[in-house]
Amino acid sequence: RSKRQGGHSVQFYTPEMNAEAHDRLQLENELRKALERDEFLLYFQPQWDLGGGTLVGLEVLLRWQHPVHGLIGPDRFMPTAEHSGLIVPIGNRVLRAACEQGVAWREQGLLPQRIAVNISSRQFQRQDMIEVISRTLAETGFDAGRLELELTETVLMDNGDATVTMLRALKAMGVHLAIDDFGTGYSSLAYLKLFPIDRLKIDRSFVMDLTHDSDDAAIVAATIALGHNLNRTVIAEGVETPAQLEFLRQHGCDLVQGYLLSRPLPAEEITELLRAQRVATPEADVPA
Ligand code: C2E
Ligand code: MG
Ligand code: MG
Ligand code: MG
Repeated sequence: RSKRQGGHSVQFYTPEMNAEAHDRLQLENELRKALERDEFLLYFQPQWDLGGGTLVGLEVLLRWQHPVHGLIGPDRFMPTAEHSGLIVPIGNRVLRAACEQGVAWREQGLLPQRIAVNISSRQFQRQDMIEVISRTLAETGFDAGRLELELTETVLMDNGDATVTMLRALKAMGVHLAIDDFGTGYSSLAYLKLFPIDRLKIDRSFVMDLTHDSDDAAIVAATIALGHNLNRTVIAEGVETPAQLEFLRQHGCDLVQGYLLSRPLPAEEITELLRAQRVATPEADVPA
């Protein structure tokens, strides 16, 4: 038996099909429905300036409000979204929703310096990516300078020569760029020089054992120094303890993000946080 899947692909569905492939196909169909029914929502995790202690950025983290299973995190559906290519329409929707939310905050005088959006390989590989981003910015009225794109080393390395061209086009638009999960991929340091990236984001796996494992401590310290020597800013993700925070402060890390400071939150809760901060530091406005 064959079943028409939409687009041009025909999928075969047999009882012999292994359970994993079956589950994936089922998840894929559910993801397609989730797009139609608009079941995706954005959470935002604050990024704090270690110097001033202010909220300077928000990372957009996708959630799926499943009608039966409740709130589902990306680790459960991102592999299938990537594999099926559904990450492209999903990612476009995330980008648009993030820009719209940014404009809403701006209109209330609450917008932080930046909103960071994760971009997958499948999105980055598309010919029309630059166009989609510039159109989304134009249509929503969100300022390119307030948008940060998080690209992993894998995303950057998967695209060969096209990568530098794409990154340059994004920089020319005024978009801010960060390497996510830095240190976990297999990019070479030579690429750091070549890629017009603004920020390194130290992966949580190094931050986790920072205070117990001297190797992780050395890697984190070296990454901060490397970033600064290359004129990049450095952010650490997954900060969970005061000891980790103190280490990062002592080593001059620019920004931090993690459960210690705040978990990813829905937009309404972020609005409250931003209001509270505005009251605390009324003069704090955004540098160009
Ligand atoms: P990521 O971009 O590296 O995001 C950081 C992940 O670490 C998030 O998980 C966040 O909730 C979690 N996290 C933050 N602080 C802490 C902490 O202190 N401790 C611990 N244990 N975890 C912390 P989340 O939201 O489950 O997202 C997982 C991954 O899914 C993200 O990793 C990113 O690669 C991907 N992802 C999320 N949203 C999107 C999206 O809109 N598009 C794409 N392409 N990928 C996304
Ligand atoms: Mg990220
Ligand atoms: Mg990350
Ligand atoms: Mg990570």
